[in-house]
Amino acid sequence: MAEKQILIVEDNDKNRKLVRDVLHFKGYQTVEAPTGEEGIELARTQKPGLILMDIQLPGMDGLTALARLKAEPLTRAIPVIAITASAMPQDLEKIRQAGFDAYQTKPIRVKEFVELVEKIFSAGKDSS
Ligand code: MN
Repeated sequence: MAEKQILIVEDNDKNRKLVRDVLHFKGYQTVEAPTGEEGIELARTQKPGLILMDIQLPGMDGLTALARLKAEPLTRAIPVIAITASAMPQDLEKIRQAGFDAYQTKPIRVKEFVELVEKIFSAGKDSS
């Protein structure tokens, strides 16, 4: 596993850039995919320490992508944080039940986001 590498799965260029800039500033490396399909492929080949998964994606959505990651021995143990544009209670409940390690709603609040990433990233490292 690459040291401090995070996979960003996000179809919106501006959102991806914001998250990338914040993570680079905090000393993380990033790999990025605009679709769930490409994200899964990168998770397999790069084995990042953490995945940030947008829920609304073209093609496969983030919930389906998570299910695929969890079904595969190679990617099952990688922690995944959902990033969602919806704060609707029923959508957040779906995210909780899907098995994400945590979630953040958009727009990202940088301080809270960084704290969550650091917490989940180190928890994932301890268990591997
Ligand atoms: Mn999206």
